[in-house]
Amino acid sequence: MAGEAQPDCLFCKIVAGEIPATVVRETDTTVAFRDINPQAPTHVLVIPRVHYANAAELAAGDPAAVVDVLREAGEVAAKEKVVDSGYRIVFNTGPGAGQTVFHAHAHVLGGRDLQRLV
Ligand code: 5GP
Ligand code: ZN
Repeated sequence: MAGEAQPDCLFCKIVAGEIPATVVRETDTTVAFRDINPQAPTHVLVIPRVHYANAAELAAGDPAAVVDVLREAGEVAAKEKVVDSGYRIVFNTGPGAGQTVFHAHAHVLGGRDLQRLV
């Protein structure tokens, strides 16, 4: 069923507490934790507890969860004190864009001068 935990999904295992993560914030619908290979002083992943392969599928299947992820990205940025300096929210979608974990997630990047991509 859409949104159900997938047994082979790394991020579903983090949601279930089966794989440890450095959790920054948690809500009823989201988990935010530090990226294992940070690309900036602040590099936090915000994931919905429900499993969808990417942000677009999440938006189609559970629109409220997208709002929760984005609100949480803002809360993480505030907690990390990167709101004033600016931060970036990234949803890599598809292997050609660098997506390696197929459970929707927002990268929240901040704390350094972020090179302009677009
Ligand atoms: P993607 O490349 O799919 O957009 O992002 C996946 C991210 O997950 C990568 O930045 C990678 O460093 C991170 N990652 C992969 N495995 C783990 C893990 O076991 N724990 C944590 N905290 N991050 C992970
Ligand atoms: Zn998953």
